[in-house]
Amino acid sequence: MMRIAVYPGTFDPVTNGHLDVIKRGSLIFDRLIVSVGCNPFKEALFSVQERMEMIQENIGHLGNVEVDCFSGMLVDYLKNKQTNVILRGIRTVSDFEYELQRALTNRVLNKEVETVFVMASEQYSFLNSTLIREAVSLGGDVSHFVPPDVERYLKQKFMHVYGKKSE
Ligand code: ADP
Repeated sequence: MMRIAVYPGTFDPVTNGHLDVIKRGSLIFDRLIVSVGCNPFKEALFSVQERMEMIQENIGHLGNVEVDCFSGMLVDYLKNKQTNVILRGIRTVSDFEYELQRALTNRVLNKEVETVFVMASEQYSFLNSTLIREAVSLGGDVSHFVPPDVERYLKQKFMHVYGKKSE
């Protein structure tokens, strides 16, 4: 039986921490679908299309990983993809609380759904997309946190917003 998992997230933008989870997930599962959530309650810097592109550009070397997007209930999306496994990453104790709530909610919505967690690698355990967006908006160097093409996307985004070059 093919083991398929969905790694859902906002990925605004994808970071080295997410890419580490993706790489490790690709070793655990036969097929991993990284899915960008279109959440109307969460305002994003990048469009779903841009977020998918940035992920796609960094997973080329992983043959069993694909990028997709979803809106609506994750449990319905999982059914569509013929799987009941969600992959998520945990960095901190506060992540654990949030993830526990989400995992339990999804299990109530569909008792067959299982959430599999991987722990962040130490070097990425402090990384989050919000801090990276903030740092770039202030002209900070984020080259240790995101791949080079994602850094370019970020700089372009802030050049456009502020009408000046942030490099
Ligand atoms: P969401 O808004 O759904 O939490 P994110 O894009 O912020 O989406 O994160 C998606 C998943 O990746 C979450 O499970 C989050 O805990 C995990 N994650 C985010 N950053 C890291 C990191 N640096 N290391 C490991 N996991 C991470």
